[in-house]
Amino acid sequence: MRAVITGGAGFLGSHLCDYFIEKGWDVLCMDNLVTGADSNIAHLLSNPRFSFAQQDVSKYIEVSGPVDAVLHFASPASPPDYLKFPIQTLKVGALGTHNALGLAMAKKAKFLQASTSECYGDPEVSPQPESYWGHVNPIGPRGVYDEAKRFAEAITMAYYRYHHVDTRIVRIFNTYGPRMRLNDGRALPNFLYQALVGEPITVYGDGKQTRSFCYVADLIDGIYRLLESHEHEPVNIGNPAEITILEFAERVRALVGTTAPIVHHPLPEDDPKQRCPDITKARRILKWEPKVNLEQGLKITYDFFKQQVATAKHKA
Ligand code: UDP
Repeated sequence: MRAVITGGAGFLGSHLCDYFIEKGWDVLCMDNLVTGADSNIAHLLSNPRFSFAQQDVSKYIEVSGPVDAVLHFASPASPPDYLKFPIQTLKVGALGTHNALGLAMAKKAKFLQASTSECYGDPEVSPQPESYWGHVNPIGPRGVYDEAKRFAEAITMAYYRYHHVDTRIVRIFNTYGPRMRLNDGRALPNFLYQALVGEPITVYGDGKQTRSFCYVADLIDGIYRLLESHEHEPVNIGNPAEITILEFAERVRALVGTTAPIVHHPLPEDDPKQRCPDITKARRILKWEPKVNLEQGLKITYDFFKQQVATAKHKA
C-alpha cells in the first residue's frame, strides 16, 4: 500500500507520515516547505519506504507508480500563517485540492481531505455537529482559509458524486502536540514559548472565547479510522473538552511555573467566540473518541517545547 501525503512535512502531515510508515505503508511526502519543516521528516529520510518531494501541490502533480491513498494536508493552518500567505492559502485549498483529487482519480486511489472546524466560522450553535452549515465571513481576513476549505469540501463531494472517487472529509478541530512550530502564532505555541522564556502571556480579548484542544495522536488515529471507513460526508475529529482561552493560559502558566503575568491584546477580527466538536458521528461510525486529556497532552508538548527552546538558545 502506498500513500501520497501532501503537506507531509507539516505538523499534522509529518505525524501522518510516521503513522502510515508504522502501519507498513510506503509514503510519498510532498511539501513546498512554506510552513512545513524538513526537520519534521528528517528521521524518515533513511527509510526505504519513505520518499520526499519538495513540490508546490497548487501546481500540477505528477507521481509515477501505483498509489492507494492521497491525503491532502497541504495548507498554512495557523491564523498568522494564513494571513501572511493569503493567496497561497486560497490556492492550495482550491487548486491544490483539485490537483490532489485529479491524482487520486488517475490512480484509482482513496482521497482524504483535511478540512477544518473553521468551516463553521464563528458558530451560532455549540457544540457544532457536521449538519451545521456554519457562520463564515467570506470577505474577512480569515475568509482566505475558511472559504478555501469550504471550496475544498465542495469539490471533494463533486468528485465523489460525479467521478466516483472514493473520498473522505475530516473536519479537524484545534490540535496540539510535538512538532508545532515555536513561532507559528497559535495560542498553544505562543503560551508555552512565552512561559518558557518568562515573557508575559498574551491573551487576545477578554479570553472568554473557548476552544477544545485535541492531542495529535488522538487526531491521527481518528483520521486513519475515517480512511478505513466508508463515510463520504464530513466527520468532526476533535476533543470535546471545551476551555476558555484565559483558563488555558492559566493552565500553561501553572504547568511551566512562570510568574510572568497575563496581558491582554486586541481580539483578532472574526475570532470565533466558541468552538467545540460534536463527535457523536465519529463515536458511532468510527468507534473513535479521544483518549489523551489536556493534562497529559500538555505535559508531552511542554517537554518538546522545552527542548526546542534550549536548542534555539544554544544556536543563538
Ligand atoms: N490567542 C490568544 N493569544 C495568542 C494566540 C491566540 O489569546 O497569543 C487566542 C485567539 O485569539 C483565539 C484562540 O486563542 O481566540 C485560539 O487561537 P489559535 O490561533 O490557536 O487558533 P484558532 O482556534 O483561532 O484557529
